[in-house]
Amino acid sequence: MHNGAFCIARLAKSVYISSMYKAKAYSAASATSPLSSATITRRDPTEQDVQIEILYCGICHSDLHQVRNEWKEAMPTVYPCIPGHEIVGRVTKVGSGVTKFKAGDLAAVGCLVDSDGTCAQCKAGFEQFCSNAIYTYNAPDKHLGGVTYGGYSDSIVVNQRFVLRVPSNLNLAGAAPLLCAGITTYSPMHHHGVTKGQKVGVVGLGGLGHMGVKIAHALGAHVVVFTTSAGKKEDARRLGADEVIISRNADEMQKHAGSFDFILDAVSADHDINAYLNLLRRDGNLTMVGAPAKPLAVSAFGLIMGRRSLSGSMIGGLAETQEMLDFCGRSNITADVEVIPIQKVNEAYERLLKSDVKYRFSIDMASLKSE
Ligand code: NAP
Ligand code: ZN
Repeated sequence: MHNGAFCIARLAKSVYISSMYKAKAYSAASATSPLSSATITRRDPTEQDVQIEILYCGICHSDLHQVRNEWKEAMPTVYPCIPGHEIVGRVTKVGSGVTKFKAGDLAAVGCLVDSDGTCAQCKAGFEQFCSNAIYTYNAPDKHLGGVTYGGYSDSIVVNQRFVLRVPSNLNLAGAAPLLCAGITTYSPMHHHGVTKGQKVGVVGLGGLGHMGVKIAHALGAHVVVFTTSAGKKEDARRLGADEVIISRNADEMQKHAGSFDFILDAVSADHDINAYLNLLRRDGNLTMVGAPAKPLAVSAFGLIMGRRSLSGSMIGGLAETQEMLDFCGRSNITADVEVIPIQKVNEAYERLLKSDVKYRFSIDMASLKSE
């Protein structure tokens, strides 16, 4: 994640281009403003660029954190902010050097739109950790100046290196969330070697969590969901969970002490992770993908008893994101989505805060045409 000072230094060095066009979008003017209709500027595709008409864009809880400037210490929000990094659409135009896509193709864009391509991280396929990575929104826009604008818009222009292929069998509204929720849950499971027969926990059945359940189930794991919402029990089983635990029930939690190979924590708010560390077996790992604004307290005993580890993971690199999309294509996995018009985005944010999402909102971008 870049820091604010670094961003501003980079903004000053931006290379500006003159050829641009107007696009429709939904934008937040401040941390306390609702999102509303706006007109923005996009660059015309340059040699390596792909221009995409956005058909669907998922709503990630990160969009809400960022719009409301909840991550001000790590990544302060620059306004106006146009979020959205779970993008699927159709290619409308390509630059002369583009070989991967042609007009009419389906295409997808996730959380990254650029990186330096030359550092050790990029060379190893970890573009998400490149110190010059450019996020899809709220990162320095080296083409137009200012910051990048995300997918709550009718189009986007992205270098072909950051454009992904969508398997043709997948429903597009449900495929959009794979670009963040899918890769964010796939990558750590892949890294920690989640496989058939392992006991895997998923904490928080929201957008990320429900993708974690589907992916762990497809990998053959015994999946246990931890939820604070008793009403999600049936859904958790339908999504692929073998067991469901109401995390506020200490007795139910205690029955699983020392038994998990891997736990994925996808909670967006402050919570007690020690309760989950205690459920890991010897050498088990808990990976945080949730990004609550407030630091979490970690008991040393939860870690030293059993040589357990606590780690984090952020999205995935480009090759791994394509690998995840292809895996989801083969396994016929998409997000369970509630498709909404963009005019309902503010309502959707309020519902996210109440854990009332089944299990990802996907914006039908055709609704932006009437704005
Ligand atoms: P989401 O759809 O809102 O789901 C979050 C879930 O967390 C809720 O549905 C709820 O599940 C649980 N939860 C919420 N408040 C809670 C509380 N106070 N105590 C315990 N559980 C609570 O959010 P999301 O889009 O999946 O994102 C989850 C987090 O991951 C966010 O912080 C987001 O910014 C972060 N994120 C990180 C990455 C990365 O690369 N690491 C990528 C994307 C998103 P139950 O109802 O089942 O309890
Ligand atoms: Zn996201």
